[in-house]
Amino acid sequence: MHILVCGGAGYVGSHVAYVLAERGHEVTVLDNLSTGHRQAVRWGRLIEADLLKPETLEAGFDRPVDAVMHFCARSLVGESVGQPYDYYDNNVVGSLNLLRAMHRHGVERLVFSSTAAVFGQPISGRIRENHPKSPINPYGASKLMVERVLADAARAYALRSVSLRYFNAAGAAAQAGIGESHFPETHLIPNVLRSALGIGAPLKVFGDDYPTPDGTCIRDYVHVLDLADAHALALDFMDCNVGAHRFNLGNGDGFSVLQTIQTARDITGLRIPFAFAPRRDGDPAELVAASDKARSGLQWSPRFDRLDQIIASAWDWHRAAAY
Ligand code: UDP
Repeated sequence: MHILVCGGAGYVGSHVAYVLAERGHEVTVLDNLSTGHRQAVRWGRLIEADLLKPETLEAGFDRPVDAVMHFCARSLVGESVGQPYDYYDNNVVGSLNLLRAMHRHGVERLVFSSTAAVFGQPISGRIRENHPKSPINPYGASKLMVERVLADAARAYALRSVSLRYFNAAGAAAQAGIGESHFPETHLIPNVLRSALGIGAPLKVFGDDYPTPDGTCIRDYVHVLDLADAHALALDFMDCNVGAHRFNLGNGDGFSVLQTIQTARDITGLRIPFAFAPRRDGDPAELVAASDKARSGLQWSPRFDRLDQIIASAWDWHRAAAY
């Protein structure tokens, strides 16, 4: 199939492009390179385009597209609290522009990059797909709005879609020369590893007074290549299923910030200096997935289901970081 990977120069998008190419698909990457990396586009041509400039999207449809994968988004929880207009503009208006372009060109399949942030503060332990959706930050709200648009588009235009709600993407495909690199870096595992390497600002642990056993936030880390596999499986799923579908993707195990730092210390054998800092805006105390639906519905089976494996793969990338 020919897959248009929108946001394919970014962290998750570049790993998806790699996995799709490995599976024999043809890939075109569409990206505005605002946060992505030209060097991460290695499995198909790059078209520089911007979802907020709809006329630039046409170039992505210059040859028949079988499905679109959509990763173009602003995705920082804390930043979204301070810049809601930018988040709704990029994530909602941008998605609408892409959906209209797909509609114009008769493309009826979409895999959408969604997030655990659609749930807000969980009211139960492991979060299933039908858990109430009450996002507590504009990032999660913007993604939930698009999920709703996709449900409406299924009815109105027969658009087939799969929204994949990632919990905390982590790890890398160092063997393929791609990994996680944001500027500025705000994510926990890269910041922990940078602290081990003595790079960048000192590591801060945001909040020590959450209602968790050690007072720090708990997250479910899932390997980016396992996320990428789920995208490839979603293509097969849409062959047999009409409508708009949603799946949670996580390993089902929660780790606190302090446990994550400890695991990184074990993997690297290095000291990881950090200091406690106030809570970050928009952070729920705990987010852990129940992914049974993805396992049965998509036949998804994560290959890296332990935190130490995930951190070890991120460490391989960070030690050799090429961009
Ligand atoms: N976090 C932290 N220090 C950092 C980065 C993140 O303490 O330098 C915490 C953050 O507050 C959250 C968890 O680590 O509780 C995961 O944050 P990340 O930004 O990696 O992912 P998010 O959960 O926001 O998608």
